[in-house]
Amino acid sequence: MSSTANDHLRNQRIIYRAVILIWFLLFITVTSLVVMLDLRRAETSFKESVNVHFQQASNRVQVIESILEGFAAVVSVENDPGRDRVRRYAQKMLEQYPQIFMFEVVEKVPHDRLTVFTDYYRDNFYPDFKVKGFSYGSDRQWQRVAATPYHMPIVFMEPFPEESRKVLGLDLSSNDFFMRALHDSETQHRSVASEPFTLVEGELAYIIHRPVPLPEGKMLPASYGSGAEGEFAVLVIRADTLLEREVHPQPGMREVLFHPDFSETDPRGYLHLHESPPTSRLESIVFPRLQETMTLNSASQPFILFAEYQLGWGAISWWKLGVTALIAFFSFMVMMVYARLYFRNEIVRAERYLQIARAIIVGLDRNGNITLLNRRGCEILGYRESELLGKNWFETIVPDTERDRVYADFRRIIAGEHDPFRTYESSVLTKNGETRYIVWNNDMETDRKGEITGTLSSGQDITERKLAEEKALRQQREMAHIMRLGTMGEMATGMAHELNQPLTALVSYCGTAETLVNSWPAAPRQLGEILLRATEQAHRAGDIIRHLREFVSKEEQNIETLDLNQLIRDVITFLKWEVQQAGVTIQFRPGGLARHVKAGKIQIEQVLINLLRNSLEAIGSENSQGGRIDIQTRLAANDMIEVTVADNGSGIETSIADRLFDQFQTSKKTGMGIGLSLSRTIIEAHGGKLWVDKSYRNGALFGFTLPAAG
Ligand code: ADP
Repeated sequence: MSSTANDHLRNQRIIYRAVILIWFLLFITVTSLVVMLDLRRAETSFKESVNVHFQQASNRVQVIESILEGFAAVVSVENDPGRDRVRRYAQKMLEQYPQIFMFEVVEKVPHDRLTVFTDYYRDNFYPDFKVKGFSYGSDRQWQRVAATPYHMPIVFMEPFPEESRKVLGLDLSSNDFFMRALHDSETQHRSVASEPFTLVEGELAYIIHRPVPLPEGKMLPASYGSGAEGEFAVLVIRADTLLEREVHPQPGMREVLFHPDFSETDPRGYLHLHESPPTSRLESIVFPRLQETMTLNSASQPFILFAEYQLGWGAISWWKLGVTALIAFFSFMVMMVYARLYFRNEIVRAERYLQIARAIIVGLDRNGNITLLNRRGCEILGYRESELLGKNWFETIVPDTERDRVYADFRRIIAGEHDPFRTYESSVLTKNGETRYIVWNNDMETDRKGEITGTLSSGQDITERKLAEEKALRQQREMAHIMRLGTMGEMATGMAHELNQPLTALVSYCGTAETLVNSWPAAPRQLGEILLRATEQAHRAGDIIRHLREFVSKEEQNIETLDLNQLIRDVITFLKWEVQQAGVTIQFRPGGLARHVKAGKIQIEQVLINLLRNSLEAIGSENSQGGRIDIQTRLAANDMIEVTVADNGSGIETSIADRLFDQFQTSKKTGMGIGLSLSRTIIEAHGGKLWVDKSYRNGALFGFTLPAAG
């Protein structure tokens, strides 16, 4: 393939890659967008759910606070013996708010008044009332009451079933965290929540309490009879109920509500912990982890809500990704089909260029086998494409004489020693054996790896130009030749003139010598005969020179009525000497019916001399002793007289047969090649024809016609 074809292929590859890259980028972008939107949605919904939980918890703690307010108010207006109202209030609230585990009233009793206090409660309310300790820490055992400045025994409980009775008299001061909260609520006169702790029942809880305000007219605690110094309303809250459990927990979700005195990681502070099954490790690497921390809007229970959500595969809507992938796939297909169509058009166009090119375009593989040939190539070579594809170029198309040279050039290109600007001229053999000249531009074809796989050549048919050049060259040579002939003609005229004198003198001397010899009786007999022959030859030389002069003279020849048979006999006589020398027999068979023609005598003689001389030379070249020339005249159609000259010489050489009548076509070393062309011109000028009988096999047969006179 040529470099343009390689370029084409390279372009194609680049564009395909670009299509794939663009598609891939688009696909990645769209997919990322879809995933990002999904993640964003998951994040929003996470925040929303955290918010909802936050609101829920905030509302609940506020409700708790207001219930506590109410409880404290109810307690404050009641005297100890009549706690029935308090109990009813508590019962009602317990029905309504399941997050409240228990209502309690706690008295603050100085240590020194503990006995008075216990007796008071035993005597008035609970006969087995006893103040005791309980650790909500590690041992979770009932304990003896510890010596502390103040005791905080529970004196009222609702609900109050039989098993709860033993809790009555429980001194909250045996647990530090209760005491801290109680202290805070007492000093700040507001409700304060304790740390979370585990109830005996196993539930996670915290207590929230506030000092009970003393209404107008109510006795101070010390004078109240019980010995207590103050009073607290207490709610035990199921910590876990501040937040509702998720019905369908999402994996990776963790939600902690914890007491602000602890950290998010300290389970001791946990009021509520909700953990979904964890996500996989891969998900925690791939996806982000969302976190949200919020503090409840409550002064008494400023618990912290911490939520964490590890995003995972579940956050992605796979159907959307599926649709995206499907759209991407279709768009990819469309792009590929479009690119393919585009390239098909390109290829079709390239093919059209190839076919309409005025040049021959040939592709060869490394072995010289034809891989490609365009229409013009087929036209010039005369083959169909199918006849040549796969055939070896050098064996089929290149003529024997050039094969080695052309193949060597080809090998050089294949070896990479190639000059792209060099042109190569060589001839090709067409299917019908014609030779055509082509100028080639060659290029090598390479594969993807850049290895040479063959050649691609474009060739211009320069046959017409080359023939025209050759013709011009020939004409140039002919011109030079004609000029030489002209000079020779002039020389011949001069020579004839010059030779005429000595020949006349020679004839005259010979005549005188002959007269002398005849009058000299003692003279040898042959001498007279010799002198006669010498005179004859001198005359003949004169005749030749005269003919020569006439032949080259530019004067118009006189047209006269000639006896053609006589003319032929004269010519035979004229050539007698040469005929004898050649040992050739001339047979003349004159036709009797018509013999007269109107013609220039010298010219017709010249034609006959040409034909006979050619025959003599053809016989002589064969070296044959039995040479014969047959001359015949006859009356032909259209009142033409036909003369034929046949010989049994070498016959016409095939190489020259078609160009016999062209000027300067000769097969002889010393020949000039003008005899036949001149003869034909002469005969045609007389209205006749001159031809060669190509079918004649015994030698050569020439013939001409002349119109019969009168
Ligand atoms: P020339 O005799 O100088 O070569 P002509 O024009 O007379 O030029 O002849 C041209 C050619 O024709 C000759 O060279 C010869 O090859 C061929 N030719 C002519 N006459 C004969 C013949 N009788 N036999 C064989 N070849 C002939």
